[in-house]
Amino acid sequence: MKIIIKNCCQCGSDKINFSIPGGDNKERYICTSCNFIHYQNPNIVTGCILEWENKILLCKRAIDPRINYWTLPAGFLENEEPLEVGAARESEEEASALSDDMRIFSIYSLIHISQIYIMYYGTLKDGKHSPGLEESFETRLYSKDEIPWDELAFPIITENLKLFYEKEKSDKPHTGIVDKINNEYIITRN
Ligand SMILES: [Zn+2]
Repeated sequence: MKIIIKNCCQCGSDKINFSIPGGDNKERYICTSCNFIHYQNPNIVTGCILEWENKILLCKRAIDPRINYWTLPAGFLENEEPLEVGAARESEEEASALSDDMRIFSIYSLIHISQIYIMYYGTLKDGKHSPGLEESFETRLYSKDEIPWDELAFPIITENLKLFYEKEKSDKPHTGIVDKINNEYIITRN
């Protein structure tokens, strides 16, 4: 996934070349006025699988994309924010949910949208949850039999829930790749 750069984000010039900088091997948007190179790299998304009495916390999305679909609490890591702090923050923002025992659960590369998706697993503190101010319409604890598989927001959410029920918990994160080819999602577990 590539964002087209028409104006330099440093000096505002529209003299942008898409070419390979010296010492590099990939094409980048380079400003020919101030020489700034617009590198584009994957974004990190992080969140939590929170469990309480054999049930998993899901949030009904109140924002696009995939409004009204169910998801695990997760979102973009902020600059200068430690990873596990970001995961905890997203759980609190989207579901007013806390956890004292978060452990790494999965790391997936979402090739088609240049995202790295890093999920944690933990116990939902006191079983407490409620929708965040803006991002969730509803939060709910689902048992394995109740998971709304046809109403999950994203393939990576489905994959994480499958991993959760199919695989043993261990200290080693599950890893894999999600890609989208000809409008079809291809998920590869490592
Ligand atoms: Zn510039």
